[in-house]
Amino acid sequence: MTDLKVLYETVKKRNPNDAEFLQAVEEVFESLNVIADVHPEKLDDDVLYRLVEPERQIIFRVPWIDDQGKMQVNRGFRVQFNSAIGPYKGGLRFHPSVNISIIKFLGFEQVFKNSLTTLPMGGGKGGSDFDPKGKSDGEVMRFCQSFMTELYRHIGANTDVPAGDIGVGAREIGYLFGQYKRIQNEFTGVLTGKGLSYGGSLVRTEATGYGLCYFTEAMLKDKGTDFTDKTVVLSGSGNVAIYACQKAQQLGAKVVTMSDSNGFIYDPNGIDLDTVKEIKEVRRGRIKEYVEKHPEATYTEGARPWAIPCDIALPCAIQNELGLDDAKELVKNGVMAVCEGANMPTTPDAIHYLLENKVLYAPGKASNAGGVACSGLEMSQNAEHLSWTFEDVDKKLKDIMVSIFNTCRDTAKEYGHPDQYVVGANIAGYLKVAEAMKAQGCV
Ligand code: NDP
Repeated sequence: MTDLKVLYETVKKRNPNDAEFLQAVEEVFESLNVIADVHPEKLDDDVLYRLVEPERQIIFRVPWIDDQGKMQVNRGFRVQFNSAIGPYKGGLRFHPSVNISIIKFLGFEQVFKNSLTTLPMGGGKGGSDFDPKGKSDGEVMRFCQSFMTELYRHIGANTDVPAGDIGVGAREIGYLFGQYKRIQNEFTGVLTGKGLSYGGSLVRTEATGYGLCYFTEAMLKDKGTDFTDKTVVLSGSGNVAIYACQKAQQLGAKVVTMSDSNGFIYDPNGIDLDTVKEIKEVRRGRIKEYVEKHPEATYTEGARPWAIPCDIALPCAIQNELGLDDAKELVKNGVMAVCEGANMPTTPDAIHYLLENKVLYAPGKASNAGGVACSGLEMSQNAEHLSWTFEDVDKKLKDIMVSIFNTCRDTAKEYGHPDQYVVGANIAGYLKVAEAMKAQGCV
């Protein structure tokens, strides 16, 4: 049987500078230790040593010309982590913090997440240290075209299907798709998150935020409650945060905060989402502008919203945005559930603290899987050259999220850790991928 400690040391030695990747591996190994206790025969050396090593890592130069006519250079990444259960699938992140560690952590998480959706998708992730903030549409387009001029040779509808993530929304996907089509002379479902006029799926824009709330609702219902009249504290004001806010409000909750990388707003009357959408989706402005229209709300610069009392916390911005002190504050204020819209937003010590204090904790690889699940549905529609209705896709999304919750709950229970959905998510995600890897031999 694999000694996970020894394997972790090997991973550390191979990836000495990749703090985020090591954090993600350590979290999964914590759950795999549970398999080691209950079903050691299911931990297979041959699988585990391959699981922590990406199948392929591509790093490339992305030169582009800015509006002043000056040459700029960024770095592009695509990590094709695991294709045991389907073509690589996972988003592209454009953010100045992007490096190989962040892309590997995201790709590793994606393997388990995609497995949990039950759809045939392997795991991958990519991106660049390019910052779309403050750039003109022309600059973003030239960057995307240059990025795709290298990426196109590594991807394909049956090989690797990227999508959006931080800094990559409808505008960027459009430019990337246009360039792929131009180079390959092929109109194919090579990216998801496309516009509705050229092969996109209804609900994809809303899917991660809605899916997060469907998962959370299933979890709350399992405990005999729901969103009605709950106070929700939410971080971020991007794609995931906006649609998580919308669905939580539709389900009867009062969402009182949103944030961006500069600070957070607190509106005790409940967030007016139309104002947020106008600032963020139309003008690409800053969240602090909200208080100009809503003087009853406050804006706090340089802080996160976790000290605001709430029943439910939904971190929807970025990794490691909710630390131990934040968890202590949330528990002190009586939080009932922390459900992740972002990837790995809660630090390991904070997760342990929440679990010790009986807070329901939903790990992102399960609770934010709605985005990639809907991407899987977009791939199906592209493959059959059809478009399904909003109601149809939304129902499928909800069914998938409820089924992911049930899998996490039942697996955690089966392995002796009831209510520890993170254990259930990692084990269930792992078992399916491991079986497929074993069946395919030494590849
Ligand atoms: P967006 O780019 O649309 O929004 C990101 C949000 O996070 C913005 O409000 C941004 O603020 C904020 N943010 C960025 N960096 C920081 C920081 N250092 N501190 C605080 N806030 C920050 O991205 P998404 O909404 O798509 O993604 C959010 C999270 O959800 C990410 O972790 C992503 O990996 C995850 N996710 C996304 C999916 C999707 O379908 N889009 C699917 C599954 C997970 P600012 O404007 O100041 O940068």
